[in-house]
Parts: sequence; structure tokens; C-alpha cells
Amino acid sequence: MIIDIHTHIYSEKDYKDYFKRAKNQVAKAIVLDYKPVSPGLAQLIKLSRQNPNIFIVPTIEMNKNISSQLKILEKYFQQKQIYGIKLYPGYEYFYPSDKKVWPIARLCLKYNKPLIFHSGDVYDPAGGALLKYAQPIHIDELAVKMTQCKIVISHFGFPRFMETANIVSKNDNVYTDISGTIDETSNQKEAVSLLSQYRNDLLRVLNYFPNIKSKIMFGTDYGGEGTPLYQIQPYINLVKQIFTAKEQRTVFYDLAEQIYFG
Ligand SMILES: [Zn+2]
Repeated sequence: MIIDIHTHIYSEKDYKDYFKRAKNQVAKAIVLDYKPVSPGLAQLIKLSRQNPNIFIVPTIEMNKNISSQLKILEKYFQQKQIYGIKLYPGYEYFYPSDKKVWPIARLCLKYNKPLIFHSGDVYDPAGGALLKYAQPIHIDELAVKMTQCKIVISHFGFPRFMETANIVSKNDNVYTDISGTIDETSNQKEAVSLLSQYRNDLLRVLNYFPNIKSKIMFGTDYGGEGTPLYQIQPYINLVKQIFTAKEQRTVFYDLAEQIYFG
């Protein structure tokens, strides 16, 4: 079975669409992004209670009062209704190495849950996001300061695969996932090229940093039918092509179980 650590399932419809597309291969899906102060998070938690195979990881708005948001999230941690916190450096103009991240990392550590960073490219129709904040390299400094906090670099830092592999390899407490790279293409030829290039790039970094094979998790970045990110099966196929049967168990399930639910 599979744990998908990166989805954006926000409604009953998304939920049905996702699990239909996943064809009984996914046991648990982690849903990212809701802000503690928005009414959305409470609704999402309701959805996760009705559907016990989805698990919530909210975000924090870094330019608003962080400690009041942490108070809300701590309650959810205590009630075992959230499974980590995700941050968006590229969209909110802060470096992961910034001191204001420390109390968030400490809260995650207290409840033994991961701190996740959107890393690498930004999806940015409004045009304000800055890549410099989203570069994986800035996670290294946080990882060294907070050696006990589990940190996840989302999307393998796409397209900064080598940089991400370097940081994951160097820091015991840093992990990554393969989500978000296989998005919709304008034609079949582009789709084939994208898949083979992604496979080659992953193989390349794994040749340089073989010790990170046990630190990679499965994720899709499923955003709903009708968005550019709706693929599930190509990610599953990719893992089967790159990893041995034994390694696949770690990527598909065991590592995520340990990081998010351990
Ligand atoms: Zn995402």
C-alpha cells in the first residue's frame, strides 16, 4: 500500500475523485495547506474525521502573528488532528533559516511531527513569489540548528534535485518527496519527455547520493481534476522503475508512516 504525503484534497468531490483515480493503491493521503485562522481548517478536519484515510497538515502565515497561530495548532496536535506544519518561503518572503521559523520547528519537535517546506519552483499565477526564498539550500542551516526536528523538502526541490539530494544526504533529519513534477503537458510527446527526464534526473542524483534512497517519500501534489496536477499512476510507475522492491516499501509507505505517524 501507499501513503501519498502531498495532496490538496479540499472537498468531498476531490476526495472521491482522488481515491477513484488512485484505484485502491493509496491507504493514506496527507492534505496540505490550510491556515489555522481560516474557517477552512475546521471544515477540513471535519472532512478528515468523516474519511479516516486523509490526514491534515496545515500551514502558518508567516507575516501574521505566529505565536497565536501556534496556539491554535498546538491544540490540534494535542487532539491528534494534524500531522505536521507546512511553510511557504517563496510566497511569503522568508528564508527557512530565519529565526522566526524556530518556534514552529520546536512545536513540531514537541509533537514529533515534521516541518515541511515548499521548495524549488513556485506555482504563481499572481506573480509575486520569489524563487530565492524557496531554494532548498536555506534548509541546511535550519536542519543544523534543529537536529532533532524532522524536516521535509517538498517536490525534491524541483528543479534543484542535486541541491536537495546534497542537503538530505548531509542532514540525518531532512527528507524529501517526489511530488509535483509530473504536471499536465500540452501533448503526449512532452509527457513522455518529461517522465523520462525526471527518471533520469532522479537516477543521476541517486548515483551521487545513494544514502538518500531511504529518505525519499511518495507524493503526487494532487490538486483535483481539472488542475494541471492530477496524476497519480505515473508517480507510482516512476517509483517502481527507480527503486528495488525492498526500497519501494520504504518510499511508498514505511518512511512516511515513521515520519508522519510515528
Ligand atoms: Zn502542493
